[in-house]
Amino acid sequence: MDGAWTLEPSEEICAPTRVEPTWTPERIECLTKLWDEGVTTAEIGRRIGVTKNAVIGKVHRIGLVPRVVTEKPEPRRNVFDFNGPVCMWPSGHPGDTDFHFCGGRPVAGKPYCTDHAAVAYVKPREPKPQAA
Ligand SMILES: [Zn+2]
Repeated sequence: MDGAWTLEPSEEICAPTRVEPTWTPERIECLTKLWDEGVTTAEIGRRIGVTKNAVIGKVHRIGLVPRVVTEKPEPRRNVFDFNGPVCMWPSGHPGDTDFHFCGGRPVAGKPYCTDHAAVAYVKPREPKPQAA
């Protein structure tokens, strides 16, 4: 016994009349489906006909993936998210968690957008002939 149980003991077999006779395979399937759809635990309970706490308990027990309840961070602008050419101007440092490419629309023939092309292709300043 090293605690590596992957199968939970079946409640139906171990204690058929215990606390959760309501969790039929159909209801569990329903729970899983509603959970995936982002329905709240209270609403799932209402639809299935069990308490919210029963839903929460079951969700934990059958190991449903916890839903992201907080707002998702803005999807990072990544060059792979775009079709066609995008501005490859790096923002931040490679390896940083917030590193990304500009992703703007590049100037024709350049790998950068207008703004970044202006930065990337600064012409060496030519000394203007002084009008004497
Ligand atoms: Zn750019």
